[in-house]
Amino acid sequence: MKVKVSVDKDLCTACALCYDEVPEVYEDSGDGIAQVKAEVGGDGAIIEGDLAQRVLEVTEECPSGALVTEVIEE
Ligand code: SF4
Repeated sequence: MKVKVSVDKDLCTACALCYDEVPEVYEDSGDGIAQVKAEVGGDGAIIEGDLAQRVLEVTEECPSGALVTEVIEE
């Protein structure tokens, strides 16, 4: 699996779920609002394999729909 990840910061409510669950990809931008880590490529980064599966799961769990995850390859 391959996904393209980003965060809609205007929707994020800083619940911390995504960076608690998938710290390899997401982090606190400083005020609790999530962002995609620069280490993985920032907004628009491509994530593959098991990590992509976990990204997809936390995307469904995000309470505000702020995680934008596009499946590029099943
Ligand atoms: S799970 Fe959603 S609302 Fe919570 S910090 Fe991450 S993007 Fe923001």
